[in-house]
Formats: sequence, C-alpha cells, structure tokens
Amino acid sequence: MAVGKTFVVEKVCPICEKKFRVVKTRSRIMVVKRDDDACIHYADFNPYYYTIWVCEHCGFAADEKTFTTKMPDRHLVILRAVLLTKNIKIPFTEERTLGNASTAFRLALKFLDLIHGKSSKKAKYAHQLAWIYREAGDWDQEKEFLTKAAENYEDALMRESFPIGELTDNAVMYLVAAICHRIGDDKKATTYLSRLISDKGVREREPRIHDKARDLWGDMRAGRKK
Ligand SMILES: [Zn+2]
Repeated sequence: MAVGKTFVVEKVCPICEKKFRVVKTRSRIMVVKRDDDACIHYADFNPYYYTIWVCEHCGFAADEKTFTTKMPDRHLVILRAVLLTKNIKIPFTEERTLGNASTAFRLALKFLDLIHGKSSKKAKYAHQLAWIYREAGDWDQEKEFLTKAAENYEDALMRESFPIGELTDNAVMYLVAAICHRIGDDKKATTYLSRLISDKGVREREPRIHDKARDLWGDMRAGRKK
C-alpha cells in the first residue's frame, strides 16, 4: 500500500463548486528507471495513478492545472450542461486501483473531447494512461493509448505554438519517434529522428534531445540487425 506516499487535500470543483477530496503524492518516491518515451518507473508505487483529479460529486476529471486554473466560460457552460444534469457519482478512493486510474483518465479524455481541448493535453493524458497499462503488463491497452498519444502529439505539432510549458516542438518530435518505435512504426520514427539528428539548431540549443534521438536511432539500428 502507498502508506506515507500520499496525502489527502480538499479542493473546490470548478464545475459543481462543491468541496471534493484529492489524493496528492509526496515528492520523495524512489525512481527505478526511465523509459525512452519519458515514462518513469518508481519503487512499489505509481504516481501516474493520481495525476487525474476526479470530483466525487459531479464526476469532472482533469489534471491539477485544469482544476486550479480559471476555466473559460464557454467550457464551463458545456461541462456543466453535461455533468450537472447527469448525476454522475464517482466514489472517492484514497488508494486507486488500475481500474480507478484508467476510469479517471478515460473521463478526462472524454471531457477534453467535449470542449474540443488541446491535442497536446489529450496526448499527455493518453500517454500517461498507456504508461499505467505498461506497468500492468497490458500491451493491447498500452498500444491503443500510445497510438492515440502519437496522433495527438503530431496534431499538436501542426496546430499549437511551442513551447508548451517546458515542452518544445523538438521534444515532442522525439516523443513521437519513441512511441512510433514502440508500436512498430519504425518508418515514422526514422523520419522524426533523422530530422532531429540532422538539425544543427537542435544539437546546439537542445543537446539532450539530440543525444536521446541519437541513442534511440542506435537502438533501432541494433534492433533491426538482430
Ligand atoms: Zn464537481
């Protein structure tokens, strides 16, 4: 169990305006390893289970930033029309199961669709849900959400302006390549990796992305030879 790794706080839901409980994770949890697509594995605890907050009263689900940033009125109108008429109750659980966590992500993705939310956010949710299935060893579900993540990252590359927070367009191109390699689309992975590796600007300004792209390229070539 996650004893000492989480704590409960109360927040006010922007949709129903009631107080609801949120499980937050403490920062000191031990990292075991990092995958090439940025998934972090932690010792006997998975903080990705808790990245999506769910209001236990109305069922609204989203990440912390969405809950704590003022929401545009047009989004409130759409979400309230759906949530406040349906009486969705999602029971609060201090310790989430794989099922609870996946429901939270699926709801969050559904609400993003309703408000025509940003592809970069859909990509992030789908990517983290894929990581949850990775840890659980469910490849079919992992692959489904990796595919969704890659599609939405690519859409974000075309439509959104970068950087988004600390995420640069080159970092997203690298992520798409890493995901494509995992789901067996090495052709697309190669396209993005060769762009990153041959771009002098990336090498100079984002050497970490350049190095990661080189490493993944090397892994892919080694894999092909096997
Ligand atoms: Zn609510």
